[in-house]
Amino acid sequence: MSADAATDEAPRTIVVIGGGQAAGWVVKTLRKEGFDGRLVMIADEMHLPYERPPLSKAVLAGDADIDTVRIVKPDEFETLNVEAWQPDCATLLDRAARIVKTASGRKVRYDRLVIATGGAARRLPRQIAKTSHLTYLRTLDEAVALGERLRGSRRVLVVGGGWIGLEVAATARKLGVEACVVEGAARLCARSVPPAVSDFLLALHRANGVDVRLCVSLVSLDDHPDGASRVRATFADGSTLDADFAVAGIGLAPNTMLAEAAGLAIADGIVVDEFGATEDPHVFACGDVANHPNAWLKRRVRLESWANAQNQAIAAARAVLGVKTPYAEIPWFWSDQYDVNLQILGDIPTDCSPVVRGSLDEKRATLFFVEHGNLRGVIAINTPRELKLARKWMSQGRPVDLAALTDIGKTLA
Ligand SMILES: Cc1cc2nc3c(=O)[nH]c(=O)nc-3n(C[C@H](O)[C@H](O)[C@H](O)COP(=O)(O)OP(=O)(O)OC[C@H]3O[C@@H](n4cnc5c(N)ncnc54)[C@H](O)[C@@H]3O)c2cc1C
Repeated sequence: MSADAATDEAPRTIVVIGGGQAAGWVVKTLRKEGFDGRLVMIADEMHLPYERPPLSKAVLAGDADIDTVRIVKPDEFETLNVEAWQPDCATLLDRAARIVKTASGRKVRYDRLVIATGGAARRLPRQIAKTSHLTYLRTLDEAVALGERLRGSRRVLVVGGGWIGLEVAATARKLGVEACVVEGAARLCARSVPPAVSDFLLALHRANGVDVRLCVSLVSLDDHPDGASRVRATFADGSTLDADFAVAGIGLAPNTMLAEAAGLAIADGIVVDEFGATEDPHVFACGDVANHPNAWLKRRVRLESWANAQNQAIAAARAVLGVKTPYAEIPWFWSDQYDVNLQILGDIPTDCSPVVRGSLDEKRATLFFVEHGNLRGVIAINTPRELKLARKWMSQGRPVDLAALTDIGKTLA
């Protein structure tokens, strides 16, 4: 992916598609790096860029609102001098003419384009979801509406035992709402944590009164037969479950349609290099929509995390201006549920048993994944200090002392 002669010229017009966390960091960084040309941000949500992690936590609980989740305050955004076309949706990308067209009929010619379109919550198939009492959680507006609905409900059905589903269930319990989580797999968050942590999450939710059902196959979600505004879920074994409404947290589909229609390479996201560059020297992508070669994981990956949305966006924005600093961070993700802060750093190999420091039963444990004497990954449960240390060791490539890791009487340093 090398720049052609045309890209040697400094860009005068940069267009950013998307208005989420990654787009917000792109426009902020472009101005910070001194770009003083025309900057257009096309975003289909009406809000200025904001962070999504609080949506399933503080916003859902009613403890935070738009003002607490913004990436840039409105007056600061004003000073960035961004033409924010919102709400508007980019509907066509003509790479030959370097033009983006929008649903409202506007069009703009770019010197560089950054696609930061994130993803959309995966929908349940229509043959299963036959009720209107089903919601999803991706946007601020959805979080506010879901919070209001939760507060007026007695019981919620959560479809999907991944991070979003579990955080919704935890917030529901905090609000005094009964919650039932149904998951098709045999364990919770099976794609990102080992069985011991899945078991920990299961015990945590059950201890907080959540009815968690694993290996459950949902065959239909209907309006309740009694005519009340409720739902009835029917499972493959014929059993049913009633709730006031359902929330599905069944994953994310990256918003790649525009890029795909424009002929850019797609492989679980828009294919970019370590600078966020696509094979088209005028087009970059970052955030949840981008699939990049990750130096730590030593493989290509599309990450869905706050840290990636921010830092990959910063690297891509710099690269747009010709400042090439590779995005090479160790992947990091966190989740907050009840009194538990769980953080995942690095690679969590499925075939490697972790070295455990502390106790999962006591909700205070660090799981170290060690390969040839070096740390590959860490899961920290209420142990942020250990995670911080592990991050330092991993960044330095420092070998670890297994005995010291498990000796709880010894402070790690
Ligand atoms: C409820 C929730 C909780 C989360 N919790 C955590 C957490 O605890 N820890 C963590 O690390 N990560 C968490 N995440 C993940 C993190 O928030 C995301 O990784 C991050 O928001 C991705 O940012 P993004 O800008 O790439 O994409 P997005 O935030 O999805 O933004 C993309 C924006 O582009 C818009 N768009 C798409 N297509 C177009 C188009 N054609 N034209 C115009 N606009 C378009 C979209 O509508 C959207 O507004 C959470 C996510 C959610 C939804």
